[in-house]
Amino acid sequence: MKRILIKRGTLVLVDKGVLADRDLLIEGNRIVRIDRGIQDPQAYVIDASGFLVGPGLVNMHVHFRELENSAGGDGLLAEMRAALKGGFTTIVVMPNTNPPLDEPLVVRYLGYRCREIGLVNVYPAGAITRGLEGQKMSEIGLLKQAGAVAFSDDGKSVMDSHLLYLALMYAKYFDVPFILHEEDISVSGEGQIHEGAVAFRRGLKGIPRVAEDSLIARDLVIGYYTGARVHFTHVSTYFAVELLRWFRDKALISADVTPHHLLLTEEAVDREGVFAKVKPPLREKRDVEALKEGIRDGVITVLASDHAPHKGKSKEMVFSEAAFGISNLEIAFPLYVKALVDEGVLDWVGLWKRMSLNPMQVLGMPEKGFLAEGAEADVTVVDPETEWEVNIENFESQGRNCPFNGWSLRGWPVYTIVGGKILMRERSILEP
Ligand SMILES: [Zn+2]
Repeated sequence: MKRILIKRGTLVLVDKGVLADRDLLIEGNRIVRIDRGIQDPQAYVIDASGFLVGPGLVNMHVHFRELENSAGGDGLLAEMRAALKGGFTTIVVMPNTNPPLDEPLVVRYLGYRCREIGLVNVYPAGAITRGLEGQKMSEIGLLKQAGAVAFSDDGKSVMDSHLLYLALMYAKYFDVPFILHEEDISVSGEGQIHEGAVAFRRGLKGIPRVAEDSLIARDLVIGYYTGARVHFTHVSTYFAVELLRWFRDKALISADVTPHHLLLTEEAVDREGVFAKVKPPLREKRDVEALKEGIRDGVITVLASDHAPHKGKSKEMVFSEAAFGISNLEIAFPLYVKALVDEGVLDWVGLWKRMSLNPMQVLGMPEKGFLAEGAEADVTVVDPETEWEVNIENFESQGRNCPFNGWSLRGWPVYTIVGGKILMRERSILEP
């Protein structure tokens, strides 16, 4: 069997918390050796001089939109290619697809199609409620059997407290994490952007922090009471970080952020218009600082991306009618480098751990997400220094709704290896 030898790279050992100059040998779908000066004349050699070599990146918040279209599933293929380009070997797909992931058959179909395409590992998140409508619980156990690794009504929150309480009792029984989008819609209503200076000046309806904070507070309490695993996704406010910090040792909670909530504030709406329209909305400097502090001190342990592609039209309209969401799958890692490594919040190992081992732990797969002899050969190689400019025209994703176009970033993935196959090489996708 063909072997791959990654030579002269700096390994990111996220489980040990160190960088180490070692070679890494892959045979079949496993890492078989990590050592100094490995020689193997038969192997395909990747010269990783000056590069970081770490476990495949994991993104636990990705939107696929459509499972099928007239061209036969091209949407899936495009977003999976975007994941590879972004160095991700594993992604969790949110259930607000069309059709939604609320039936075992649909969850199975997604798994089947993704394995057929054969690029990145795709784990579906099942819907908490039928049609994500918040009225009737979905079949948690059957969805888990069909392949759902987590549950979420992402895009919406479960407004009915009793329903969420019952669902979390099930969650505990089936030992699955709930990924919660927290937004009290009776407060956020028709809100377009953060309720702050920009909304006031432009006459746009605002979304106050309390829409998010009040539901996080409620669900920390319900999570604590039920003993279920609750994960708060795309946290965006300073008070949410305080609440999470207060509960961190009391309940089985975890949280993630997005790169855009660390790099942009409400002012981005003035420059980028609808491209800066996202839920939760871009907040203020005070919130950004608190999120970074939460990442630094371990209250927020996962860096996700909330990749939300929108094709063409949905963003080309008046602000109030444009869709919410930012397409960022292929630039998430370099964005986090800018937000966290360049700012001294995290070092490379800390950053990488929050994008590999930590999300795997939240998903209940602690045996994955790090480099080790015998581990699955999901490996990402990053060039930590060379700067490239973001160009949305080159995106693999069908969504080019991105406020970072033209930004100069470093830390781009240059190789993505999934299950022992090199699928992205020097920033180009290879056919499997
Ligand atoms: Zn969401």
